[in-house]
Amino acid sequence: MRFCSLGSGSEGNALIVEVRQGASTSRLMMDCGFGLAETESRLARAGLSPANLDGIVVTHEHSDHLGGVARFARKHLTPVWLTHGTARLLSERALPQALINYVDPHEAFQVNDIAVHPYTVPHDANEPVQYVFGDGAVRLGVLTDVGTTTTHIENSLKDCDALVLEANHDREMLSVGPYPASLKARVAGRFGHLDNDTAAELLGRIKSPKLQHILCAHLSKQNNTEELARQAFANALSCEASWVGISRQDEGFDWRQLS
Ligand SMILES: [Zn+2]
Ligand SMILES: [Zn+2]
Repeated sequence: MRFCSLGSGSEGNALIVEVRQGASTSRLMMDCGFGLAETESRLARAGLSPANLDGIVVTHEHSDHLGGVARFARKHLTPVWLTHGTARLLSERALPQALINYVDPHEAFQVNDIAVHPYTVPHDANEPVQYVFGDGAVRLGVLTDVGTTTTHIENSLKDCDALVLEANHDREMLSVGPYPASLKARVAGRFGHLDNDTAAELLGRIKSPKLQHILCAHLSKQNNTEELARQAFANALSCEASWVGISRQDEGFDWRQLS
């Protein structure tokens, strides 16, 4: 398995998972918060074309995750997996029924050779989920857009071989930063976004000796720095800060191989 990000943050998210089994290659895009041309050019940067994707799995309806999904899927006839609660926000015209596959948040499913395990998360959306991807040998766990950690999240992410975890904000920077009070409360709230320290505490509880890659994702431009996020995760793993990757808004991150 290998994976990369086309971009991560409040202005748009998309992550690619690829599994090769023998002669066949399966690929999924998780979320698409970029416009059509932007998504196509970011895919090209990763060496891919839209036809290389077997589907798009969606986490929730916020525009930085769902915003580009319907247009991309309509143009390229890409099947989409999403929960009923997320689908509610899309009209038949926006996303034809024929392209929709419903995700039961408690039921794993398979897209060609990729095993997809959705799990529920507290976030201010209709029926949000996050995903763990597997190929029978290794597992990649992804978690962003979550206000609080739960036992269910910990159990879902335990023993992953790679993790992409939200490090949205530094609590101090958010509290003294430029956001209006209502937005500060939303971001820091139980249905908002994970701060560096809370994410690091979660990482400390779910880390496994098998871990090959760790990436901080969905960093706030105003309320965080890469150094703070990296250091929090490095402390949790007792590793060098340079080993912790960053998923950036513009570049995402380049392919990472799992073996
Ligand atoms: Zn988001
Ligand atoms: Zn969100």
